[in-house]
Amino acid sequence: MSDGGERLGIFGGTFDPPHVGHLVTAVNVRHEMRLDRVLLVVNHQPWQKLGTREISDAEDRYAMVAAAVEGVEGLEASRIEIDRGGLSYTADTLRTLLDEDPTRELFVILGSDAAVGLPTWERADEVREMATIVVVERPGTREATPPPGWSWIQVEVPRLEVSSTDLRARVVDGRPLDYLLTPEVIETIRQRGLYGAQVTA
Ligand code: ATP
Ligand code: MG
Repeated sequence: MSDGGERLGIFGGTFDPPHVGHLVTAVNVRHEMRLDRVLLVVNHQPWQKLGTREISDAEDRYAMVAAAVEGVEGLEASRIEIDRGGLSYTADTLRTLLDEDPTRELFVILGSDAAVGLPTWERADEVREMATIVVVERPGTREATPPPGWSWIQVEVPRLEVSSTDLRARVVDGRPLDYLLTPEVIETIRQRGLYGAQVTA
């Protein structure tokens, strides 16, 4: 049981861009797991995606996440991996958060597509020791069961078949973004001219 320390959710991602699938997951896992806060941790260099595609600048992705959670109770954008630099490993992030406050209880939040890769993570055993794993089903991906030696808590959240990949294509094609991204994120994309968007004043 909790010793009274902070119950802290860690929801890591590339967030290129952050969409309703991320936000609905974060607020609902926070509620169901009675977490004090959920940090949306913006990857500096997502080692799993390097070399697969162009990834937006970390500062642009951070700006979009900050815009998405501004004023939302219990959700925060985290710079921890950007400030550390280099490749982003969750094991390092969890260690930093525990060093800051050893009484914290950590919960790593993942979509099912990301969860199946857990055993391949850098120092996966440390991640398993330091945090409870919380998984949400991601529609459009295979149903995930914990890999051998792993266990997780499954939390039901509204299933939204939304991806950053689709949203980037929507910007390129000029298709609607409304209701898939918050107005503040759409504004940030336009102001910064991300994904080839027309820059607005
Ligand atoms: P991309 O298409 O670029 O891979 P993405 O939409 O998968 O982007 P990520 O930043 O890769 O978003 O994902 C960060 C985390 O959010 C992962 O744990 C992923 O499983 C989870 N996630 C992303 N989209 C959803 C969704 N629609 N529902 C539930 N979880 C999601
Ligand atoms: Mg993804």
